Amino acid sequence: MALRCSCRWPWSAWPRTRPSFARNTPSLCQQFSTQEINPQICVVGSGPAGFYTAQHVLKHHAKAHVDIYERQPVPFGLVRFGVAPDHPEVKSYGAEDHQTLGVQGEQLPGVLSARAFVGWYNGLPENQALAPDLSCDTAVILGQGNVALDVARILLTPIEHLEKTDITEAALEALRQSQVKTVWIVGRRGPLQVAFTIKELREMIQLPGTRPLLDPADFLGLQDRIKEVPRPRKRLTELLLQTATGQPGADHRARAPRAWGLRFFRSPQQVLPSPDGQRAAGVRLAVTRLEGTGEAARAVPTGDVEDLPCGLVLSSLGYRSRPIDPSVPFDPKLGIIPNTEGRVVDAPGLYCSGWVKRGPTGVIATTMTDSFLTGQTLLQDLKAGLLPSGPRPGYAAIQALLGSRGVRPVSFSDWEKLDAEEVSRGQSVGKPREKLVDPQEMLRLLGH
Ligand code: NAP
Repeated sequence: MALRCSCRWPWSAWPRTRPSFARNTPSLCQQFSTQEINPQICVVGSGPAGFYTAQHVLKHHAKAHVDIYERQPVPFGLVRFGVAPDHPEVKSYGAEDHQTLGVQGEQLPGVLSARAFVGWYNGLPENQALAPDLSCDTAVILGQGNVALDVARILLTPIEHLEKTDITEAALEALRQSQVKTVWIVGRRGPLQVAFTIKELREMIQLPGTRPLLDPADFLGLQDRIKEVPRPRKRLTELLLQTATGQPGADHRARAPRAWGLRFFRSPQQVLPSPDGQRAAGVRLAVTRLEGTGEAARAVPTGDVEDLPCGLVLSSLGYRSRPIDPSVPFDPKLGIIPNTEGRVVDAPGLYCSGWVKRGPTGVIATTMTDSFLTGQTLLQDLKAGLLPSGPRPGYAAIQALLGSRGVRPVSFSDWEKLDAEEVSRGQSVGKPREKLVDPQEMLRLLGH
């Protein structure tokens, strides 16, 4: 199955219902023709990086033709499947794979990647069978980035708030039945090294019906040290400190039924099995201390361990890009396509943008800037005649190939029909949309 969006029309003709494409779906751009007059460009991946790159090219080259390919039957990549449903104004992040824990017990039922969990509640078809068991009292999230906070928030948000979002009905039902009362968010380093940002922390602190669990001992001496750190980190740490030391506003929630906590200086060492060995029952954490200071400080084990009982473990250690094809260079260590300003090394005519270009970091604005730069590089090369010569068949060849494999692509106008169906189903239950999650149902609706 493939989605093909042909963008001869100007960017402004794209639906305005998704104004703020977020970050980081990896994308590749292949220039098919050296004829500067009517360049044909193919973008692989319809996430934010793909769209922003296409937008830049179309805006700055009146005769460019861009085809965007997507393996899902719906566009927008992780704008649709990655961003928390209660962040409709943001819509974000990408990359294909997650960093694995690499510890004993990781394969036990009850251990999930945050990426799969996010895909599950956002309607990503491949994650719909995840069936997370939320019958436990305590969940542990490993990693202290924004994805960890997204997942913690979704686990603890009052259901009536989620009911107004585009979270899938199946996820909503599972969360209605959830018994999870406490969520620990565990980091191998300290409060000065957390990877999440202040907006997401503030949302946690203000989450109705929850209370924060922070150990003031983790913050000893921090007041003096934050004077030297850059301003965003300083403000973030001040908020953590204020929350940990119970400044005004923090104590009235002492009786809140649910809690979330940050555990610092703890690195995952093993997932502990239940007595019958059938599922996860906790995490063994290696206690760490820091070597060095600031962002670059390294966590080293002290030799002590601590067991944290829980029934659900979510690993949220960051994302990784996967190689797209053996013909495309890939650096498996960095998880990126080697490139100079988006120009793929040793592959004339091939460009990259998004997380596959720079690694899985940054927010919407980062991917937007980065994708515009890739678009700019491509147009410069086009003008300088640096692209491969000779005619290219472009979409005609792809169409023939798909036809020979019996694949009927979903076009952008097909997507518009699915979009209208989702919005209409959502209206009847007070949501912005009810996402279609079954590709077969999508095809049936399209009469394919
Ligand atoms: P991330 O920001 O890279 O955070 C990963 C976390 O995992 C860090 O705390 C990191 O600790 C920890 N970690 C990594 N490897 C580890 C290991 N081997 N053992 C223990 N801990 C380990 O990744 P993310 O949360 O997946 O987010 C990815 C990007 O998307 C970020 O740029 C994020 O800001 C963005 N994002 C933004 C939003 C939003 O704006 N609302 C939402 C979601 C995601 P160390 O620092 O010690 O390595």
